[in-house]
Amino acid sequence: MPQIITIKLFLANVFLVRGERWIIVDSGAPGDGPAILRAAARSGIAPGDIGLILLTHGHFDHIGGAAALREATGAPVAVHRADLPLLRQGLDPRMVQSVGIEGRMLMWFMPSRTPPLEPDITFEGPFDLAPYGLDARTVHTPGHSPGHIVLPLPDGNLIAGDLLRGGFLGGLLNATLPNPPYVLNDPVQQRASLELALSLPAHTWHVGHGGPLAVEHIRARAKSLM
Ligand SMILES: [Zn+2]
Ligand SMILES: [Zn+2]
Repeated sequence: MPQIITIKLFLANVFLVRGERWIIVDSGAPGDGPAILRAAARSGIAPGDIGLILLTHGHFDHIGGAAALREATGAPVAVHRADLPLLRQGLDPRMVQSVGIEGRMLMWFMPSRTPPLEPDITFEGPFDLAPYGLDARTVHTPGHSPGHIVLPLPDGNLIAGDLLRGGFLGGLLNATLPNPPYVLNDPVQQRASLELALSLPAHTWHVGHGGPLAVEHIRARAKSLM
């Protein structure tokens, strides 16, 4: 059974998933690389134990530490092809709608320029993690960003990126309450992606901000989330 370690950073969560070696899912904001490596070390995971850096999507608070992690671990960075423009050019605030006051605050927080990141692996269909020793494949869930993906694991845990968020203020309040993401690239796609993700067999969603979220709780609130 895969094992998940959650690393809570100032702006976002990062996950370590155990495959043959460890897979890092997301990488925090710019400058977060060393903190992620320190947290991994506290769990007995050395840089050489990390075989892949998988990004759920191309926003600055999920890709910021990727280059530093790649340098320290030698692991490739993988992302859905549709988020390549976000990695290369950053987020154009005119391309997204912010949701509520926290969404507007996050846009204000956003560095005007995140250093460009060139991934080693891009994928379009499901990205199979079997070569990394994990019986799992990504599912494309656009809406929050064009190339957003989620990662269902065989034990019923699902890494959900920013498909939803937990609670308020990055999970400082009510962390396990399912809420819509801070910003949306395409609300129509977002609804379809949420439905698709809810059709996957999972009991718990691990989100990028706050969480974790019980799938029962998401279903009960689904109408207000779509
Ligand atoms: Zn995001
Ligand atoms: Zn985020």
